[in-house]
Amino acid sequence: MTNPSPSQEPVRVTFLGASRTVTGSKYLIEHKKSSFLIDAGLFQGGKELRLRNWAKFPVDVSQIGAVVLTHAHIDHTGYLPRLVNQGFRGPIYCTKATADLTRILLLDSAHLQEEEARYADRAGSSKHHPALPLYTTADAQRALELLTVIPRGAPTELLPGVRVKPVLAGHILGATSLGIEVGGRRLCFSGDIGRYGVPILPDPEGLEMGDLLVMESTYADRDHPHTDPEEELLRVVQDSLHRHGPVIFPAFALGRTQTILYCLAKLEREGRLEPLPVFVDSPMAADSSDVYRNNPSDFDAEMLDRIGERHNPLRTLRTKFCRTVEESKAINDVTGPRIIISASGMVTGGRILHHLRRWLPNPNATVVFVGFQGEGTRGAIIQSRAEDVKIFGEYVPIRAHIETLSSLSAHAGRSELLRWAKSGTGAPSRVKVVHGEPKQTELLAATLREELGWNASPAEHLETIEV
Ligand SMILES: [Zn+2]
Repeated sequence: MTNPSPSQEPVRVTFLGASRTVTGSKYLIEHKKSSFLIDAGLFQGGKELRLRNWAKFPVDVSQIGAVVLTHAHIDHTGYLPRLVNQGFRGPIYCTKATADLTRILLLDSAHLQEEEARYADRAGSSKHHPALPLYTTADAQRALELLTVIPRGAPTELLPGVRVKPVLAGHILGATSLGIEVGGRRLCFSGDIGRYGVPILPDPEGLEMGDLLVMESTYADRDHPHTDPEEELLRVVQDSLHRHGPVIFPAFALGRTQTILYCLAKLEREGRLEPLPVFVDSPMAADSSDVYRNNPSDFDAEMLDRIGERHNPLRTLRTKFCRTVEESKAINDVTGPRIIISASGMVTGGRILHHLRRWLPNPNATVVFVGFQGEGTRGAIIQSRAEDVKIFGEYVPIRAHIETLSSLSAHAGRSELLRWAKSGTGAPSRVKVVHGEPKQTELLAATLREELGWNASPAEHLETIEV
């Protein structure tokens, strides 16, 4: 696309989140009188970041015409109810699988906010009485009513003169990268980029580049090992068997949980792993697995073959989905080798806290991380094998065996990020790097400058650029 003539009104892009951090993805695009958001994610991690969720939105929310979601993860959607309780009433566009998954994740997020407020009330740690949740289930439900499904691979008009074309990003079911045409410019948003050649999902697709590329950098500093994820999983599970303790996966209910189940089921089917009891202790993981089954058009060929063979590729012989609290508590009565998969993936909340409070002090237990751990999260503290970690107000000693399986990551590693950048058509006139800790953000910007000759720099929090 050619550069706009100087007489044209500029397109303004403001980075409202995920700038030098991995959460809170939110980009405001303004052109003349129209404005819309790409993603509306929650900040997660340390207190300083979480406080940003409470700040008043920097522009009049009722003037925002629409939101487009790249994918369903809470750090990309979890701010939607807050947007609605500040007056947003426009459509929220996304793919079908993202809409299905967002319904599950937002209600869960609202529930966690309400629980946190009740906890603060009991602990007397809030200055409000009763303590206020960031948003309520009713706010989440109002946001969900605004979800509007758009097709992949074809442009849709979002607002008058604004068109978006989502393409598959591989990261989780329904995840997309976005190509946007607004005010004669072409803007590209990578969203979270997945991996090449992984189970369940097809490879990420490239975009037709234009005036601006906003690109994620979560793993810009490292390549995932080339090891086969199934081999790695097999080693860790078999290694744990002689300790007779449980293998506990803190895993995102959506995405990682299904990948772990897929790999375990495959190992069992091939006779390489004895069928062990697998407890998926998260109602959300159970619901997400249902959504996976209902969206086969987003699967890769191998996954479709498995379904054709009448297997449910997303459960092992002895998988038990624990939806109720009673089912969750009953896991405590089980002895012998067993696998527990529970959320949240960064140990910021959810049922995983109960399992880890019980098992972290026990050297016979194995805790396996399979996803990115944001700075300051409990997950990062445990992963670094600190002496102890605070759970429910108590310091719990860390004596369990700690493992990290990076081959199961949902995020592209360094070379995959570069491969994705090069897979698009043309070169972007300008690149802003987002969705990474400061070191990763700077590294990707430097790599894009040096290896591709692109005009790339890190995005700063609340920075506005004109395109
Ligand atoms: Zn994500």
